Amino acid sequence: MSTKATIVIIEDEKNICSFISRILEPEGYRVITSNTGRNGLQHINSNHPDLILLDLGLPDMDGLDIIQNVRIWSTTPIIVISARTMENSKVTALDMGADDYLTKPFGTGELLARIRTALRHAQRSHTHTSHLYEVGDLSIDFERRLVKVKGQEVHLTQIEYKLVCLLAQNAGRVMTYESIITKIWGPYADNDNQILRVNMAHIRRKLEENPAEPQYIFTEIGVGYRMREE
Ligand code: CA
Repeated sequence: MSTKATIVIIEDEKNICSFISRILEPEGYRVITSNTGRNGLQHINSNHPDLILLDLGLPDMDGLDIIQNVRIWSTTPIIVISARTMENSKVTALDMGADDYLTKPFGTGELLARIRTALRHAQRSHTHTSHLYEVGDLSIDFERRLVKVKGQEVHLTQIEYKLVCLLAQNAGRVMTYESIITKIWGPYADNDNQILRVNMAHIRRKLEENPAEPQYIFTEIGVGYRMREE
């Protein structure tokens, strides 16, 4: 890694903090740890990190308030670290602008992959977006609005095409049901997931070899969908 990314970890459990530091430092990341929300916000303000790893259950403040505070002035990627007992907050966190989440306990490979994805997306939004998505047998040409599986064109409805594009342009990141519905059907759409699920079933039938075991668009149970990254 030529330019070292700075990562701020806000997590009150010291053993998790040191576990994460031990994983990240050998990879060349500069790591700053905070055990309270207040201290974390100070570090974010003074060090302008490239990424924030945030525990939602903090002793002095709610992690969600940190997301809200940071998002007022910064697009720095935020990966939420949540306990199983905080499943609902996880969705709220994503809707408030967090980029991804990890549920404790998580593995080393998982953590590193999520960090790389979030950093890459942050960088990409500063430069240009790609015109092509190619994974396995699936390819999407955004300019020509062409979707192909094994070289054969797939016919999608307008809505299906918009959904696939949205997920493909955010490949590797989880998109919540609510954020997808808002982006496709508008802010006043009925927040019932049924129409989304129906469309996704159609998309899977068209794109996936076995819709019951998707290779391209994965379901994050209770949260949303994540498209496979290139
Ligand atoms: Ca905690």
